[in-house]
Amino acid sequence: MRIKHLPDDDDSCGWKNTLPPQEATRLTGSTQAEWVIVGAGFTGLAAARQLALHYPDDRILLVDAQRVGDGASGRNSGFLIDLPHDVSAPDYIGDLSVARSDMALNQAAIRYLRNIVQEEGIECHWRECGKIQGAVTTKGIKVLEAYRNGLERLGADYQMMNAEALQRKLSTGYYRQGLFTPGTVLVQPAALARGLARCLPGNVQLCELTPVTDVEYGSSVQLSTPAGTIQARNLLLTNNAFAQEFGFFSGALIPIFLYGGLTRQLTGDEQRRLGGDPYWGVIPADPYGSTVRRTPDQRIQVRNTISFNPTGQSSQTMRARARKHIVKSFHARFPMLEDVEMEHVWGGAICVSRNHVPYFGKLRENVYGTGCHNGLGVTKGTITGKLLADHIASQDSDLLRYMLSKPKPVTNPPRPILDLGVNATLQYNQWKAGAER
Ligand SMILES: Cc1cc2nc3c(=O)[nH]c(=O)nc-3n(C[C@H](O)[C@H](O)[C@H](O)COP(=O)(O)OP(=O)(O)OC[C@H]3O[C@@H](n4cnc5c(N)ncnc54)[C@H](O)[C@@H]3O)c2cc1C
Repeated sequence: MRIKHLPDDDDSCGWKNTLPPQEATRLTGSTQAEWVIVGAGFTGLAAARQLALHYPDDRILLVDAQRVGDGASGRNSGFLIDLPHDVSAPDYIGDLSVARSDMALNQAAIRYLRNIVQEEGIECHWRECGKIQGAVTTKGIKVLEAYRNGLERLGADYQMMNAEALQRKLSTGYYRQGLFTPGTVLVQPAALARGLARCLPGNVQLCELTPVTDVEYGSSVQLSTPAGTIQARNLLLTNNAFAQEFGFFSGALIPIFLYGGLTRQLTGDEQRRLGGDPYWGVIPADPYGSTVRRTPDQRIQVRNTISFNPTGQSSQTMRARARKHIVKSFHARFPMLEDVEMEHVWGGAICVSRNHVPYFGKLRENVYGTGCHNGLGVTKGTITGKLLADHIASQDSDLLRYMLSKPKPVTNPPRPILDLGVNATLQYNQWKAGAER
C-alpha cells in the first residue's frame, strides 16, 4: 500500500526555532526489528518508552518523517490540561462518569510526564501554575457559568476571577471574567518532546527524517522509506490522522489545522511596563477563541484560527491568513506592546472525529494504534501511548479497560460533502466567537 500523503509541516514554529539546532538521527539501509512505531510525537514517545520497559530485549524503532518536535507535538500551546475538556458539551464536562475517567487519564499523564521531566532533568519550562479560562463577551461569561456548574458536579477545585484580578495578573484589561483551575501544567512543547526523545531507553532507536512511503501487511510488516526498508514483527501507528494513509479509519479522522504565534522576547523595559505575573496561560471561553500565554522566557504566545486541511498537510495561504488574526488578537489584548513583532507564526495538525472519540487498540494482526485525541493530545497522547504498550503486554488497569470500552471514530460523509460541512462549521463558529477570538 502506497502512502499518498506525508506530513509536511512549515518551518516557522516558534517553539522549535527558539531552541538550539540539533542533529537528526536518521535510518539508512535495510533493517529488522521486533517493533516499529510510526510517529514520534507525544503518543509515539510514550508508547516507545513503555514498550521498551515491557520488552527490554527487543529492538524497537521509533520512526518519524520529520524531526522530533517538528510535528504537532512541538507546535501546540503547551497546556497539559488535567480536567475533562469536552468541547462538545455546553459545560465542558458532559457525562459525569466519562468526565471522571477522562480526568483520571489526564492526571495520570501529568504524573507520568512530571516523573520523567524531574528524573531526567528535562528543561522545558515546566510550570505547575494552572490555567484561566477567560471570557470577554456576555456569551463567554455564560459559558464560564456553565463550566462552573460542571466543575461543581465534578467536585473539582476552581476560583472565579473578576476583571480587576485578571488585569493585575495578566496585565491586560481585555477579559471581563475568568475561571481559574489549579491543576494544569504549562510547558514549552518542543523542548519537552525533544527532552523525552533524548532519554529513551537503550533498546529504542529513534529514526528521524524517515518517512514511511509504503506498507505491506502479512505475518510481519514491511515498510519502505526513501533510504531503505524495515521489516518488523509488529507495527504501532501513533501518527494521528495519518493512520488513514495506512488503511485505518478511512473517512473517519478529520485533520484540522490550528495556528500559533510567538512574539520576540520582551525587553526588560517592556516587562516592567507590563507588570503582572511573569508567566500564565489563558484558554478561551469559546473554543473558537484565542489561547494566550506569557511564557517564562517572556514572550507572548497567541493561538487562534482553524482550517480544514484534508490531506493533513500545511498551507502557506492559510498561515498568512492566520497571521492577520493572531496579530489582531495580540494587539487587542496588549495595545501597550504595539511595537512588539509576532516573530513566528505556524500551523499544526490536530485530529478530531465526529463523535469526539480516539482510536485505540489492535487494528489488525500485528498492528496496533492510538490517536485522534481531539485537540488534547499532550496528555491524552502521552497516556494512551503508554496504555497501548501496556495492552500489548497483556497488562490490566482501570484506565486501560476504560480506553478499550470506548466507541470507535464514526465514518464521515464522503468528500466533497465533508469539506463543505467542515469548512462551513469552522467559518461560522470562528465568526460567532467574535471578541473571544
Ligand atoms: C497550534 C496547536 C495548539 C495546540 N494546543 C494544545 C494544547 O495546549 N494542549 C494539548 O493537549 N494539545 C494541544 N494541541 C494538540 C496536540 O498538539 C496534539 O493533539 C498532539 O500533538 C498529538 O500528538 P501525537 O503524538 O498523537 O501526534 P503528532 O504530534 O501529530 O505526531 C504524529 C507524527 O507522525 C508522523 N508521521 C505521520 N505520517 C508519517 C509517515 N508516513 N512516516 C513517518 N512519520 C509519519 C508525523 O511527522 C508526526 O510527527 C494543539 C495543536 C496545535 C497544532
